[in-house]
Amino acid sequence: LNTRIKETGNDDELDQLIKSLNQMIGQLESAFDAQKQFVSDASHELRIPLTVIQGYSDILSSWGKENPQLLEESVDSINEEIQNMKKLVEELLLITRLENNYFTQKFEPADLGELVTKVYNECEMIDATHSFELTRVDHCLVKCNESLILQALRALADNSMKYTPAQGKICFSCTETANRCILSVTDTGIGIPESELENVRRRFFRVDGDRSRETGGTGLGLSIIESIVKLHRGELVIESTLGQGTNMKIILIR
Ligand code: ADP
Repeated sequence: LNTRIKETGNDDELDQLIKSLNQMIGQLESAFDAQKQFVSDASHELRIPLTVIQGYSDILSSWGKENPQLLEESVDSINEEIQNMKKLVEELLLITRLENNYFTQKFEPADLGELVTKVYNECEMIDATHSFELTRVDHCLVKCNESLILQALRALADNSMKYTPAQGKICFSCTETANRCILSVTDTGIGIPESELENVRRRFFRVDGDRSRETGGTGLGLSIIESIVKLHRGELVIESTLGQGTNMKIILIR
């Protein structure tokens, strides 16, 4: 756009008004640019699995009939890419809903200690390669959208499992303070370089793009968690030491 109203130069009321209008135009332009960037990034991310699916489908139509092993491998890969696309589309839909205040009507008191325990139990059940510990469970009641907070906790746990080598440890806690509830997930994983600590909150950002994509990462997880936490007027705190581990905290006001 790059549209600005010319100031009068008289430093009068009209000039002040023009200045604040120009400021608003600037903000609108930035929001518009961010939206354009988001659509372009999302299209790019969707094109990757589509290109892979197209490739395997070409292989199948050329050689699939006479080569059963190739057929099986191609179908498996196509299924994997479809799962990746499904996850991405679901996350994009969630982002849109979070931005459009779709969830604000549904806040009810929930026991966050119960939620942390639930996620800990789920991890114990599905993952035998790591050890898990529930270090503290305060039964803290907070008005929230329970299913969104559960989703955020699951996403934190999922990241810890993804980025912690086998035999590593993942600890969960729910701590109540005078006016806050702190949900914490700590792992002994690969950690995040200090220079990337702020970037990991950005949409589609991955520290190690390709490898993260291989593990089913979309690069949207943390930005969604942060939007969920902000919807509750809370804070997402990320602390990490490269090669030693990561601690992520969701801090909610009680
Ligand atoms: P992804 O879907 O790629 O995991 P996220 O938004 O959840 O996307 O995370 C962004 C990036 O932050 C990841 O690609 C990874 O590099 C880094 N990251 C997130 N959680 C952890 C963690 N617990 N340990 C190390 N790195 C992490």
